[in-house]
Amino acid sequence: MTARAHDAVVIGAGPNGLVAANHLADAGWSVLVLEAQDDVGGAVRSARDVHPEFVHDTFSAFYPLAHASATIRSFDLEEHGLTWRHAPAVLGHPTPDGSWAMLHRDREVTAGLFDRAHAGDGEAWLAMCSQWDRIGDQMIGALLSPFPPVRHGLGALTKLRSVGGLDFVKMMLTPASDLGASRFGGVGPRLVIAGNAGHADIPLNAPGSGLMGVLMSMLGQTVGFPVPEGGAGELTQSLRRRFESLGGEVRCSAEVTRIEVADRRATAVRTRDGERFAAHRAVIADVVAPHLYGGLVAWEDLPARTASGMRSFELDPSTIKVDWALDGPVPWASPPPYDPGTFHVADSVEQMTEALGQLSARTIPAAPFLLAGQMTTTDPTRSPGGTESMWAYTHVPQESVADAGGEIRGVWDRDDCERFADRMQARIERLAPGFGSRVLTRRVLGPRELEQRDSNLIGGAINGGTSQLHQELVFRPVPGLGRAETPIRGLYLGSASAHPGGGVHGGPGMNAARAALTHSRIRRGTFGLFR
Ligand SMILES: Cc1cc2nc3c(=O)[nH]c(=O)nc-3n(C[C@H](O)[C@H](O)[C@H](O)COP(=O)(O)OP(=O)(O)OC[C@H]3O[C@@H](n4cnc5c(N)ncnc54)[C@H](O)[C@@H]3O)c2cc1C
Repeated sequence: MTARAHDAVVIGAGPNGLVAANHLADAGWSVLVLEAQDDVGGAVRSARDVHPEFVHDTFSAFYPLAHASATIRSFDLEEHGLTWRHAPAVLGHPTPDGSWAMLHRDREVTAGLFDRAHAGDGEAWLAMCSQWDRIGDQMIGALLSPFPPVRHGLGALTKLRSVGGLDFVKMMLTPASDLGASRFGGVGPRLVIAGNAGHADIPLNAPGSGLMGVLMSMLGQTVGFPVPEGGAGELTQSLRRRFESLGGEVRCSAEVTRIEVADRRATAVRTRDGERFAAHRAVIADVVAPHLYGGLVAWEDLPARTASGMRSFELDPSTIKVDWALDGPVPWASPPPYDPGTFHVADSVEQMTEALGQLSARTIPAAPFLLAGQMTTTDPTRSPGGTESMWAYTHVPQESVADAGGEIRGVWDRDDCERFADRMQARIERLAPGFGSRVLTRRVLGPRELEQRDSNLIGGAINGGTSQLHQELVFRPVPGLGRAETPIRGLYLGSASAHPGGGVHGGPGMNAARAALTHSRIRRGTFGLFR
């Protein structure tokens, strides 16, 4: 059966697909979004599937990058039902001695807490914030633009002197494990920076981790770590509503299995149930690179350099995520001075560094570094008053050769997942005795369960490929131009596998849509000239 042709077909309704679709619809294109799952959202979804009275975010939860993204801000999603909520404090890191490293939205409060723990750290924190005030916007703009980021790159260069010139560059290149110690005497700021660096899969003693740590810490300090009221899915639902208000069409339960290529141009897509949708101007793939190249597009339609580039494509590590419905708040042995939305669990920067280093050595950490969220603390609509909707996740190797804890096989069947979830939960129990007795329901999502709910999360990899420097910028996803264009004309890679990578900021989707619009204009202009 052949359906009506559209200007563009977007494969996948993750945040990047929906951002691309909105931008193309804004330009007046007719756009069809095809989504394999039964609802839109990709890794930005929520549901009452852990406990009927609790909303749980299935995957991602906190959105500083979305809030900071000029692209997402430009969509005015508040007019389409989105409301942002903030926890009393952005981030907390409880330590075994009962103290907390805290990031409060008010930088004076953060600085005051750091200073109380170690005199001088407050001033050093405010100095870092004021450097960020001068150069942060340009750096975010440069990171989210297509490569090379000419406008924001030049903007950042002009600000560089005012933030200390090469010393600032050196700071950004310093690994997170050392960066904190080079600027702060106390442990609090070091834990905050290293923990925030741990949101990417870059080892904390490798370059790139410091940049990530400063970026996420300064975002926390300037825009906070906001969440959509009602659940993560409200963010992508608002993108869907906006898109549909512009006349865009979304079809769910429509998995694309083939992109048709004629004369090196993408012309149409085919779905698993045999439907064919023609695309006059562009196909945007919000699809992870290993499923696009050699999957939706056959190897025979691709140049040999793409096949050889993909041979060295590296996934990011796998993930184990645990969701809890709690009948009361987390019973902290030593309560935080302000209730944080996000919290990190690691005894020290050194323990975090060891756990992330073990991933590179394909070893399951004995003391995994946990990223966790108190969602009802952040958004009281998530569960009944006095309860907590909570999650934690951590990374494990894609293929494990050993378990530093000596009991997990690394096959991630139900038994492995539950036993590893026990290990994660024990880390929280140590900080909050009685935590286990508050659990109404627990759900554990291992690599297979994550991938079943979003095929882009291959083996539980959450970022569409490693974020380490060797696969960033012009090396993402394969060495080339670091842009959305693919070797197939009219086909654009708009997923987290493309520069600027994972996180909910819409960068890859926007870059793909802009590239499609530019090429279409050039094509039409050229045809006009020769007509
Ligand atoms: C557990 C977890 C926690 C995270 N935490 C955060 C966080 O707190 N903050 C943050 O900013 N980021 C976080 N991330 C990362 C972030 O969610 C992703 O980087 C982001 O969702 C990537 O968006 P995307 O549109 O590229 O892909 P996805 O969100 O993965 O969406 C891709 C969509 O395409 C669909 N699709 C794929 N192939 C096909 C096909 N052939 N046919 C039709 N449809 C197809 C999929 O079903 C999916 O809906 C997290 C991710 C995970 C998994």
